[in-house]
Amino acid sequence: MKTRVPNIYAAGDVLGKYMLYHAAVKESVVAAWNILHGKPIYEVNFNSIPMTIFTEPEAAMVGLSEDAAKARGINYVTVSYPLEDDAYAQIMGVREGWVKLIIEKESQRVIGGVVYGEAASMIINEIALAVAVNARVKDIALLAHQHPTIFESIDRAAIRFSL
Ligand SMILES: Cc1cc2nc3c(=O)[nH]c(=O)nc-3n(C[C@H](O)[C@H](O)[C@H](O)COP(=O)(O)OP(=O)(O)OC[C@H]3O[C@@H](n4cnc5c(N)ncnc54)[C@H](O)[C@@H]3O)c2cc1C
Repeated sequence: MKTRVPNIYAAGDVLGKYMLYHAAVKESVVAAWNILHGKPIYEVNFNSIPMTIFTEPEAAMVGLSEDAAKARGINYVTVSYPLEDDAYAQIMGVREGWVKLIIEKESQRVIGGVVYGEAASMIINEIALAVAVNARVKDIALLAHQHPTIFESIDRAAIRFSL
C-alpha cells in the first residue's frame, strides 16, 4: 500500500484497482498495519477479491475469469453444479442458478469462480478463500459442508470434478 512518496500510503478507490467497499477496508487495514510496523510486511491478496452484481438473482465472481485464464495461457478446466439440484435451493424454491469453479488443470488448484443465483454474494466468499490460499479442488470436496445450506452446491461441484 506504500506509494512512491516516502511515508505516504494509499488505500481504497484512489488505487483504481477494485473500487469496492470491502477492498477499500482491507487495503486500509493492511496499510495501517504496515504503518504501525514501520515497514510493508503485509500485502492485500488482489487475486481473491470477490465482487457481486446485486441483482435478483445475484451474480458473483472471484479470481480469474475463463477469458483471463485463456489470455494468460493457463490450461484450465471448469466444473459446474446447478442450484436446482441443491437441497437448500429446493427448500427455498430456487429454480435457476449455478456454481462454477475454474481450476488450473495440472495443479488442480482453484483459480476462480462464478456463481449465479440465490445467495451468490455469500457462496462466492468460500471460493475467494480457496483462491486466496491456493486450495485444490479436492480440499473443497473433502470439506463436510453443512446440510441443508446453499454451500453444499460448492461441495457438489468440487465432488463432480474430483470423482
Ligand atoms: C452508489 C454507489 C454504490 C456502491 N455500492 C457498493 C456496494 O454495494 N458494495 C461495494 O463493495 N462497493 C460499493 N460502492 C463502492 C464503494 O462505495 C467504494 O469502493 C468505497 O466507498 C471506497 O472507499 P474509499 O474510502 O476509497 O473512498 P470514499 O468512500 O469515496 O471516501 C473518500 C472520502 O474522501 C473525502 N474527500 C475527497 N476529497 C477530499 C479532500 N480534498 N479533502 C478531504 N476529504 C476528501 C470524500 O468526501 C470521502 O468521504 C458503491 C459506490 C457507489 C457510488
